[in-house]
Amino acid sequence: MAEFSIIDRYFKTQRPLSTAGTELGIGDDSAVVTPPHGHQLVICTDTLVAGRHFPLSTSAHAIGWKSVAVNLSDLAAMGATPHSILLALSLPEVDETWLSDFSQGLFDCCAPHQVQLIGGDTTQSPHLTISVTALGWIPQGQAITRQGAKVDDYIVVSGQIGDAAFALHHLGHSLQQRLDYPTPRCELGLQLRNFASSMIDLSDGLIQDLGHILQGSQVGAILNLEDLPIDSSLSHLPLPQQWQYALAGGDDYELCFTISPQKYAELSLKEIDVPLKIIGQIQASPRLELQYQGEIQHLDLHGYQHFA
Ligand code: ADP
Ligand code: MG
Repeated sequence: MAEFSIIDRYFKTQRPLSTAGTELGIGDDSAVVTPPHGHQLVICTDTLVAGRHFPLSTSAHAIGWKSVAVNLSDLAAMGATPHSILLALSLPEVDETWLSDFSQGLFDCCAPHQVQLIGGDTTQSPHLTISVTALGWIPQGQAITRQGAKVDDYIVVSGQIGDAAFALHHLGHSLQQRLDYPTPRCELGLQLRNFASSMIDLSDGLIQDLGHILQGSQVGAILNLEDLPIDSSLSHLPLPQQWQYALAGGDDYELCFTISPQKYAELSLKEIDVPLKIIGQIQASPRLELQYQGEIQHLDLHGYQHFA
């Protein structure tokens, strides 16, 4: 099957969405989009390589979903409104069942956020590799970066952490849903504009990702391990094992943000449909201290690193 037939059959078939801002989508040399007045373009890209970013047994539908979700999660972490994606797909072979399921998974993740596939590239390569680029908007100057954390701010995470890492070691467990189908916290990201002082999405494990905020903001933190939102199906594990999953596991795609106690009180009045948990506080001393019931813990943990 030729490249153009693949594009026509599987990628030009998205259900109609509100196409506000898209002047030209798939079919020309480039897409053309118009940002809303007074907004900045927020743009990111993430690549998934088979066997590295997902187990080889992962369904095509889940791979499609996840390749979009990880990018929408990056936009959410800036407080941006997602708008559209581009897809660069490298396929070892043309398997029509696979392509059909993959594109369905991709569109299923796009649809609730009104995100449109506006272009891409399709090539043959020995390794299945999926690169998605996502575009979104933010009102001028309102992007939430890793650099704004202030002493005494709370450190807050959404949802649960450690689920995906646990599932990776227990394929077939019900938590595999969290590994295969992460939920990008787009709505929460928007709600945190003008509230969060800094934010990151959790892809490489809390310790490593929070470390980026601490470094970017030139501060330290205390984390209270008893407050980590860990799924009850991990509660039979020894605490250090639970902490390993929650702190260093990765693939959570939850938001981690800092917020002043006063702003947090205001935020609590808003209707937010994801559980939020305060897990620690920013401190001036440039260390990250882990405490369990008031006692400092020394754990040998680290997050995922390529080329390590
Ligand atoms: P060019 O050769 O000018 O780069 P292509 O032949 O690669 O253009 O692509 C033709 C059109 O199809 C372009 O609009 C491109 O963005 C789009 N496209 C190619 N592959 C994909 C894909 N996997 N998903 C979505 N759009 C795609
Ligand atoms: Mg061209």
